[in-house]
Amino acid sequence: YISFKYTNKHSIQNKLWTDTIMTHVFHRHPKQSLPTAVAGEGITLIDQNGKRYIDASGGAAVSCLGHSHPEVIAAIHQQIDAVAYAHTSFFTNEPAEQLAQFLAQRAPGDLDYVYFVSGGSEAIEAALKLARQYFVEKQQPSRRLFIARRQSYHGNTLGALAIGGNAWRRAPFLPLLTEAHHVSPCYPYRDQGADESDHAYATRLADELEQKILQLGPENVAAFVAETVVGATAGVLVPVPGYLQAIRRVCDQYGVLLILDEVMCGMGRTGHLFACAEDEVTPDILTIAKGLGAGYQPIGAMLASRRIYQTLVDGSGFFQHGHTYMGHATACAAALAVQQVIERDQLLHNVRVRGQQLRQGLHQTLSAHPNVGDIRGRGLMVGIELVADKQSKTPLDHHAKTHTQLRRVAMDKGLLMYPMGGTVDGVHGDHILLAPPFICTAQDIDHIVELVSATIFEVL
Ligand code: PLP
Repeated sequence: YISFKYTNKHSIQNKLWTDTIMTHVFHRHPKQSLPTAVAGEGITLIDQNGKRYIDASGGAAVSCLGHSHPEVIAAIHQQIDAVAYAHTSFFTNEPAEQLAQFLAQRAPGDLDYVYFVSGGSEAIEAALKLARQYFVEKQQPSRRLFIARRQSYHGNTLGALAIGGNAWRRAPFLPLLTEAHHVSPCYPYRDQGADESDHAYATRLADELEQKILQLGPENVAAFVAETVVGATAGVLVPVPGYLQAIRRVCDQYGVLLILDEVMCGMGRTGHLFACAEDEVTPDILTIAKGLGAGYQPIGAMLASRRIYQTLVDGSGFFQHGHTYMGHATACAAALAVQQVIERDQLLHNVRVRGQQLRQGLHQTLSAHPNVGDIRGRGLMVGIELVADKQSKTPLDHHAKTHTQLRRVAMDKGLLMYPMGGTVDGVHGDHILLAPPFICTAQDIDHIVELVSATIFEVL
């Protein structure tokens, strides 16, 4: 593999770093030196020194099948040998057709049409544009506004950022973002009253959405966008029972489309292939990515309802959107193999069982820690919310520093977990995301619990 030239000349300017790699990669954090990933084996990643890391966050909830799965690799080889890529203006391809059929047959309701892109942000952009075009074609051109939720993340492209609810991520780019509006997330740990039932809480949040729609004028609102289970930004928020159904009713009442973003929580992460199936809610448009291709190839998708698809077919006959790599044959072949293995090996059952074990284990070892405010999740999507004070639930200060320390100490111990920040009333909050591969054994989960706890006790 690539050999780097090492230099310490930058350490003079930045005393924190002794070894800075000479690199021409535009790294996101140029001041951090990272190990080089050279191999993957099941739930483990291996760096250039042979050090092994348990991938307990699957990157950021991506590697759901672990690394180097031979059947996925074989499917990729086979597709590249046949044809790696053919532009979708000229051809369709077999893996895209088969994968779309696979997903449509298993998706809730009439989400029958699948639009393949290269990742989560692209899927969201496609969803926003489809919602807008749908209303243009339905002769309702005033419907142009999107409502989303605070403490949400839908991606880093400009459309996705516009609807996203992470104030910190949005701040520098605000002048570039189109108009979007935000309502409260479903955040029981911080927002549900002690005496408030799930039903009352869900109703209160649905009322807030209704008020927002009425304030903006229903004739101006195109869609409400929400993560079925929130991932980044708020450290895994599972909706209370009845919340999504109440939201769905409000959207229906005002002719507003419901877009559910399952880029992180979809594709089995919660123990169901589509997270919203557990809530018995069908959106009009649904986005997926991450676990779809499990990191073997970059791929995401948008699923659209029959009604929306048919409106375009009967109208302009054309979706005014597209990317060069959409429906990429090799990416679709990889994703199809991933999904077939997950289904054949009944891994979603394992997700549910191991998820419970993970949450229980974390509760046992971490509940008493003064900075662990909440441990929550669904399936193998688990969040730990860190607070400065348990009573007041004040977020931890200096979140970036804490993130870096948590990540470093965990990596020293041979663990990959994903610390992330959100914004709670304008103050950054800290969370740790755990999203281990679906193939984890009971022993793996015990080991992960042990390492996560040891890391938190060492840093905080
Ligand atoms: N939507 C959600 C819910 C996500 O969690 C993410 C990524 O973390 C995205 C969208 C953006 O996906 P990507 O990073 O693949 O563009």
